[in-house]
Amino acid sequence: MEDQRVKARLEEGFAAMGVCCDGAALGKLLRFHALLMEWNARIDLTAVLDPVEMADRHYLDSAAPLAKGLIPQGARVVDVGTGAGFPGVPLAILRPDLHVTLLDALRKRVDFLQAVIDELGLSATAVHMRAEDAGRSPGFREAYDLAVSRAVAATPVLLELMLPLLKVGGSAIAWKGPGVQEELAQGKRAAHLLGGEIGGVLEAPVPGRDWQHVLLVCGKKQKTARQYPRRAGTPGKNPLG
Ligand code: SAM
Repeated sequence: MEDQRVKARLEEGFAAMGVCCDGAALGKLLRFHALLMEWNARIDLTAVLDPVEMADRHYLDSAAPLAKGLIPQGARVVDVGTGAGFPGVPLAILRPDLHVTLLDALRKRVDFLQAVIDELGLSATAVHMRAEDAGRSPGFREAYDLAVSRAVAATPVLLELMLPLLKVGGSAIAWKGPGVQEELAQGKRAAHLLGGEIGGVLEAPVPGRDWQHVLLVCGKKQKTARQYPRRAGTPGKNPLG
């Protein structure tokens, strides 16, 4: 019954957003939803429990850059601080051409994500690592076309976690709320220090909701200087800009 409500909401929402979700993708999203509910009884994955709100807040919201055509075909994507897999898992399900690295500092969440990847056969890799450490590691540093992140940190902090992971020419997309305007001036200075440039803030509505969600897009223009990212914890304690 609850699955039917999620299914109906997803079909209606993706259609309104103009995002393609075929039967195979819808089936995988519903299986992901079931796994999330099952594991959430044991480990803390999501505080949102109402099925329709989960559909809106987690699955439809994660698809926002697809509605804007922001994700290139075949891109290597890293989701920084993915938690229970948002936005990375819905993106991997909706766009099987991508390869998505799901990065998180919490072991239990990464174990959950590995079970999801195995069961759904996703083109994704779950990695237990802090973004600051990944940003300094060969194989992760300057290895991605796209970095995405939702609900992890303020813009200047987030850019220090995301930009070192991008190839020159790649982009970072951060899911933000109305408070983004207050973070923009410092974010622009931080982006500049890290070899990036904030390209814009795009409205990212979830159909039927009046949430003021936006996507902040930052392009990587040149290589990030070797001193960034600073050691784990420093970006949060002493944000750039
Ligand atoms: N992105 C998910 C979402 O929107 O539902 C999870 C958001 S949750 C509030 C923040 C997540 O970021 C947590 O799972 C936390 O472990 C992870 N995180 C915070 N700082 C991190 C860092 N420096 N490196 C990797 N993961 C980090």
